[in-house]
Amino acid sequence: MREEVIENKKLKTEPNLRDYKKICETFSWKLAEKEVAWFPNKKINIAYNAVDKHVKTWRKNKVALRWIGKNWSPDNPKKETRDYTFLELSLLSNRFANILKKLKIKKGDKCFLFLPRVPELYTSFLGIVKAGAVAGTMFAAFGPCGLKDRLQNSGAKILITNGELKKRIYKIENDLPDLKYVIITDGKTESGHRFAEIDYRKEMNEASEKFNVKKMKPDDHAFMLYTSGSTGKPKGVIHSHKAILVEHMTSKWVLDIKDGDVYWCTADPGWVTGVAYTIFGPWSNGATEVVYEGRFDPEIWYSIIEKYKVSVWYTAPTAIRMLKKAGDVYKKYDLSSLRHLCSVGEPLNPEPIRWGLRAFGLPFHDNWWQTETGGILIANYPCLPIKLGSMGKPIPGVTVGIVDDNGNEMPTGKVGNLAIRPNWPSMMKEIWKRPKKYKSYFKKNWFITGDLAMKDKDDYIWFIGRADDLINTSGERVGPFEVESALIEHPAVIESGVIGKPDPLRGEIIKAFVILKENYKADKKLENDIKLFVKRRLAGHAYPREIEFVKALPKTKSGKIARRILKAKELGLKIGDVSTIENY
Ligand code: ATP
Ligand code: MG
Repeated sequence: MREEVIENKKLKTEPNLRDYKKICETFSWKLAEKEVAWFPNKKINIAYNAVDKHVKTWRKNKVALRWIGKNWSPDNPKKETRDYTFLELSLLSNRFANILKKLKIKKGDKCFLFLPRVPELYTSFLGIVKAGAVAGTMFAAFGPCGLKDRLQNSGAKILITNGELKKRIYKIENDLPDLKYVIITDGKTESGHRFAEIDYRKEMNEASEKFNVKKMKPDDHAFMLYTSGSTGKPKGVIHSHKAILVEHMTSKWVLDIKDGDVYWCTADPGWVTGVAYTIFGPWSNGATEVVYEGRFDPEIWYSIIEKYKVSVWYTAPTAIRMLKKAGDVYKKYDLSSLRHLCSVGEPLNPEPIRWGLRAFGLPFHDNWWQTETGGILIANYPCLPIKLGSMGKPIPGVTVGIVDDNGNEMPTGKVGNLAIRPNWPSMMKEIWKRPKKYKSYFKKNWFITGDLAMKDKDDYIWFIGRADDLINTSGERVGPFEVESALIEHPAVIESGVIGKPDPLRGEIIKAFVILKENYKADKKLENDIKLFVKRRLAGHAYPREIEFVKALPKTKSGKIARRILKAKELGLKIGDVSTIENY
């Protein structure tokens, strides 16, 4: 495909990272250590860094969290919003930490949150970490099976949930021998269960606002998250307190957060983005953040940006594609407060970037990372031109290699395993209870990510696909991403998922599942037209020989196309773990 480059000319402000090359040459993680707040003897607490350190500064009374409830509408904005300053977050999380102390929670104990995006989710998360325990999250849409897997594997002692969601826990309580307490945020407690139920409001009222934040070693465990389950059973990834180094620096360099910004990360804290880039990095930089409890809705989303003057927006390709699908709705809103847009979670095809330019006058800046990396590692920066379809360049202090299956580096322009030198501070500490799995990530002093990529002559990294998804057709290797990107440039196509389908002649053929825009008729003529369109854009072998028109694609609850489900269904294979898949 022809290379398309956008200069970041329309910047409204000078970026935090001004000279990428120079910073890369001079930066070391030792320098970043000066940016975080340490206790004596090199002790640290990631929650203290995110919130409490500001209480000693002018930011004390600055709004940290602007919470917007699910029933919010532009006509009754006051009714469903609540503001919390850094001081208020600090005191509320202190109270919660005191509840945990009373329950005799110890360093390293796992405390899980199973809540919608309500303020208690954020304050309790911080309180757990301040108490020296390990905070874990579970997306509020999980059913009993997904919950059982996570609570059993983690051995969680405490669960914080609400009166509605706790009913799902009752169904599996006999399988959770480690669970001692369930803290209910919004209502009456019951007795007669295997665990004791605790009234959050009552305990919070009685708890002291004063708490001595636990001083932890940089490598002590702080939080735990399960991966999205795109490729199989979700892994329980453990992170340490020093992950803040990467989360702080990247919130500055990549998200470009400044004091005057209103920042909105649309990810749920059930996934790593909603933790690292709602709770840790941006707050550590003193950001005022918007959190919206409700579901995706283009009109509401645009209203929030307009009403609260969101300036930095971090979202995901699936949301961008859905906003595009909603058409011209954005024209009804004043979105001029936006100044910087970022995207993560899945490959960002060039077409949504072009649409962003049309709709907001700004490009989405793609960046790459995974639960295991604990923070953004590759990104497009405000200070560098964007090559559409590329994930950008490594963050300063991080070395990215493209290596073969034996861990040897490959030449520029060749596709190989995306690998990272394992010396960045937010690298996972463990895959919980799966030491062999953890070990399998490392080869010849590289951390192998499981993704395939290519580095070009300017050191931009191009995502090719997950190693499991690569298609081998007629001896050529094709990544689903480039085929999907070409497909959605066809005027009739809104979204697509591409897999390799075994074929006796070609090894595999490319099969595409395609969602059409409204008003297009799924027929043979359109199918041939789409095939030809992709063939012209890519190469003779890299077009879908089979197209199936579908109404929806299987997706993870975090919004990623689940190609393994498409493949398993196509081949009549067992589908495997579906705890993170929508509507399964
Ligand atoms: P699992 O590991 O359970 O299969 P997952 O890999 O989807 O699920 P996450 O850790 O949430 O779990 O996602 C990280 C993965 O998402 C990356 O390894 C990559 O495949 C994909 N990803 C994230 N950001 C990008 C991006 N900007 N471009 C392409 N792919 C991305
Ligand atoms: Mg993964």
